[in-house]
Amino acid sequence: SQETVRMHLVMFPYMAQGHIIPFIELSKLLASRGGFTITIVNTPLNIQRLQSKIALLRLQAENLDIRLAELPFDGTSHGLPPNTESTESLPHSLFLPLLQASQQLEQPFQQLVQDIVRKEGRLPACIISDIFLGWTLDVANRLGIPRIMFCTCGAYSTSIYYSLWAHLPHRQTDSDTFCVPDLPHIRLHRSQLSQILAVSEASDPWTLLWKRNTSCNLSSWGTIFNTFEDLEHDFLDYFRRITGRPVWPVGPILPLTGTLKTKKIAWRGNESAVDAETCLQWLDSHPASSVLYISFGSQNSISVSQMRELSLGLEASQQAFVWALRPPVGTTELSSDHLPHGFEERMRANNKGFLIRGWAPQLMILSHPSTGGFLSHCGWNSVLESISQGVPIIGWPIAAEQFYNSKLLEEEVGVVVELCRGIDGEVRKNNVERIVKMLFDGHDEKGIELRKRAMDLKAAATIAVSSTGSSITHLDDFIQKLKYSKGMENQG
Ligand code: UDP
Repeated sequence: SQETVRMHLVMFPYMAQGHIIPFIELSKLLASRGGFTITIVNTPLNIQRLQSKIALLRLQAENLDIRLAELPFDGTSHGLPPNTESTESLPHSLFLPLLQASQQLEQPFQQLVQDIVRKEGRLPACIISDIFLGWTLDVANRLGIPRIMFCTCGAYSTSIYYSLWAHLPHRQTDSDTFCVPDLPHIRLHRSQLSQILAVSEASDPWTLLWKRNTSCNLSSWGTIFNTFEDLEHDFLDYFRRITGRPVWPVGPILPLTGTLKTKKIAWRGNESAVDAETCLQWLDSHPASSVLYISFGSQNSISVSQMRELSLGLEASQQAFVWALRPPVGTTELSSDHLPHGFEERMRANNKGFLIRGWAPQLMILSHPSTGGFLSHCGWNSVLESISQGVPIIGWPIAAEQFYNSKLLEEEVGVVVELCRGIDGEVRKNNVERIVKMLFDGHDEKGIELRKRAMDLKAAATIAVSSTGSSITHLDDFIQKLKYSKGMENQG
């Protein structure tokens, strides 16, 4: 029967929403288009959260064979609080310990894959794992299985990282800007270097960890990117050159647009902190393309003083907004003191601001016709979600590769205008007001250009994922290679 010939894929995202969400979308795509059996591996709390999501997928398409498997995890020996299994609500100082602790999963992961082999009497077709879990290559090699990296970040940012890491240690320089070694046309400013690179001296713990990670990633069987050729062609080519292996850009991998307007989408990642219907009604009460959506993603926040200036600037702009509020940096809970006095009441009274404390139904908001702009930290998923809905972005990158995403989209793509950088960056009420007004002003040349670019990108993204588009062609090529490969040439 069909069941007995299905090939099995093991998928392993890093423990962060920005990674798990696109892995789920990719699993769906591979299960439906490739007819594969998929096992998604993660730690117990993440698996528990995914149960209802996967149950719903099974209801939507009976034929989808997606399973969940958990690995025991305890990060306390790395200084993590008990039950920490995600970057969500994790202070930045604990990002490295979580990454280090995730290496403990190597043995249990190998055991789990061996159990699958024993049960099915044959090897899984491949292991598709996260850019942060390079060590899974060693497991794959020991068992004789191809390992594919699924990069949930863009090709531009990944290329910059890999180039910088290939040239460690970085010499001290007094200059505020410098060129990326292998991509000299990219000039970075000091403020765009994430902390990880700023401290890199070849022997610091980040570097040691990434050294192994990078070499594993570069020598894997191939790489799948959540991006599309039209958006990042040159950087995908760069990645092809440095790996010498296939690179498949199959994105943007998002739920079908037809399902976006339903409440189901309200709990992508986490369950929404607001009632989806209430949120939709609020959006319905505003004119087309008139609402600014504000979010800094699943793991980043801004400082208290930045939060105040942003609020004052929003109020002064008189633009309607939906704001997914997270506790400011250094706090664990949001209090009304963090916002200007009476702000929340005024915004509610004049129907200008819809505040969400906690997890927002982001894709549902972005896909609503009233949404006309996104003030974003430029996490890659947020970027893809925004441009695929034709929504231009006000950039405020906070950490990691967000600086590069913002730079790509501002300088090379033209869909971002940057407002601020990081949690120490200066943000002034007047500047917020000016940029927000510019984005929504029907007569401002820059605003018009940003909106036009967003619509162009929406069209390009739609073409990429259409049946003859570049992303689907790459996806089919990947599926074919997997089905007809004779083992694992060129790995490790
Ligand atoms: N997200 C959401 N609601 C929130 C915060 C985040 O739905 O309140 C989703 C968002 O749509 C995206 C992912 O979580 O799919 C965040 O990924 P991204 O790469 O944008 O940022 P990260 O959280 O990894 O920094």
